[in-house]
Amino acid sequence: MNAVDADAGLIQSRYRLTRQRAAVLRVLQTDGGHLDAEEIRERAKAELPSLGLATIYRTLDLLRELGLVQMVQYPGTAARYEARLDKHHHLLCTRCQQLSDVEAPHLAELVGEIAAGVGFEAGDFKLQVSGLCRRCRNGRH
Ligand SMILES: [Zn+2]
Ligand SMILES: [Zn+2]
Repeated sequence: MNAVDADAGLIQSRYRLTRQRAAVLRVLQTDGGHLDAEEIRERAKAELPSLGLATIYRTLDLLRELGLVQMVQYPGTAARYEARLDKHHHLLCTRCQQLSDVEAPHLAELVGEIAAGVGFEAGDFKLQVSGLCRRCRNGRH
């Protein structure tokens, strides 16, 4: 079971999360996508109007340490966070900044081969592709 399916209240008590921390986690679980700290603040505003960016960043660090959220960062862009925890990879559209999830189960074998070619034993890896999404390629945006 991953955190998206888990009951937020249960997680809150299990990890003794404060109300603020639980709110940040809930925003990510509810949205189901990739949000930066500013977007998280926007969405948590109704419940916690005083929640500041510094607190959000601290909370995100903690949630990452607990293994409850993942961070995705492309050079030159704001770090984005997600509650999806299973193995997947990312495509970033450099025009509209849309971040999409992709799965590539066959990739592990290829990465293993590439690494083995230089005598390296591959461990974890993540694929981050940047380019243009379908909508931007078609010019309708
Ligand atoms: Zn795009
Ligand atoms: Zn993702």
